[in-house]
Amino acid sequence: MLFSSFGSMKVFKFGGASVKDSSAVRNVSGILSMFHGEKIAVVVSAMGKTTNKLEEIVAAEQRHDKKTFDALVDDLYAFHLEIMADLFQERHYAAYNAVEEIFEILRARFNQPFPENIDFEYDQIVSLGELLSTQIISAFLNEQGHATRWADSRQLIRTDNRYREGNVDWKKTEELIRERLIPAFEHNDILVTQGFIGATGEGFTTTLGREGSDYTAGILAYCTDAESVTIWKDVPGMLNADPKHFENTVKLDQISFREAIELSYYGASVIHPKTVKPLQNKGIPLYVKSFLQPEAEGTVIQESTANDHLIPSFIVMKNQVLFSINRRDFSFIVEEHLSDIFKRLASLGVKINLMQNSALNFSILADRSKTDPKKVIEQFTDNYEVRYNEGLELVTIRHYDALTLAMLSEGKETLVEQRTRQTARLVLKEKTL
Ligand code: ASP
Ligand code: MG
Repeated sequence: MLFSSFGSMKVFKFGGASVKDSSAVRNVSGILSMFHGEKIAVVVSAMGKTTNKLEEIVAAEQRHDKKTFDALVDDLYAFHLEIMADLFQERHYAAYNAVEEIFEILRARFNQPFPENIDFEYDQIVSLGELLSTQIISAFLNEQGHATRWADSRQLIRTDNRYREGNVDWKKTEELIRERLIPAFEHNDILVTQGFIGATGEGFTTTLGREGSDYTAGILAYCTDAESVTIWKDVPGMLNADPKHFENTVKLDQISFREAIELSYYGASVIHPKTVKPLQNKGIPLYVKSFLQPEAEGTVIQESTANDHLIPSFIVMKNQVLFSINRRDFSFIVEEHLSDIFKRLASLGVKINLMQNSALNFSILADRSKTDPKKVIEQFTDNYEVRYNEGLELVTIRHYDALTLAMLSEGKETLVEQRTRQTARLVLKEKTL
């Protein structure tokens, strides 16, 4: 047992929306008060839309656009300073110094020659959002009487040097976490650390991919054999559809790890897809709860599949393009053609959302925003004819029933339909009058 001296611990993750201003940060402190005396690793994202801002800052730096760079940095600085002014009665010198220092690092980057590897530069800058948020929040929690310590996730999470999408070195990470994070709980109840970031063996900061803070929570839980992970969100739990696009969504009370992985594979954006697997491996339950109603049940993701079928869930991906590929000589599409087709698509970096074949045709569906039809046609022009149809949507329904199918395809033309026992997928086109 890892926690012989004080039992087990929990991992909480607070995303950008849950720390977007000073009252949100106060709310986080309130939630932690409900768990007084427990050992909790708190993983925090950058505040509000900070990560997007930092991405713009990298772009301005790359363009050598000093004016925009300065204006964006000033804005971000004012944003964080205002939150601190609201949170701290008196000037909290340690927090202010830490924040000043991070902004100095940010400003100084403009004067360095822009590195050849833009992803490297991206990670050095974009990671600062989480460093800012955790400095402010851990200082505030301490002031509120929580025994809190700030922990640097670059000392805990080791990745390779694939910047912008670091791959975790699990063995080393587990070692670092056992050596550094777990002992720190002896004298603290709460350790606040950054989501989304890690470091290479040489000590350069990396990021784990956008929205990667959930993944950080999963990594920490796996490596500490945590009792549970809770992701605090602005929705009551995992819903059966995206509430931004559908009314009358239903909360899923309990689903299996498998189901959560399937849903995120098909494009549900509630949980970062890499998060669930490590938790499943160790049977660590994952709670999704509302930071606005922390007492409410939320969703629990766990081993049992018993409840998965109770409610149909659906995921809609808009702006899809359907390519239909056939041989110029009208020969059958056989295995060697398929492997040739995949090779060509891979060379273009096309990500296939769905595929289907018939005797003479091979069809694939992709995101239009990431796929240029002209390039696809060009790539195939020697031996194949390619046609395409855009403005489509892909609907995936898990545990479908007739009612849900009818509701989602109403008024639309179905171009492709695929069904397995648990999943129906429809490619739909708005009917034109
Ligand atoms: N701050 C990062 C992002 O917005 C990571 C996260 O929030 O999970 O992508
Ligand atoms: Mg975020």
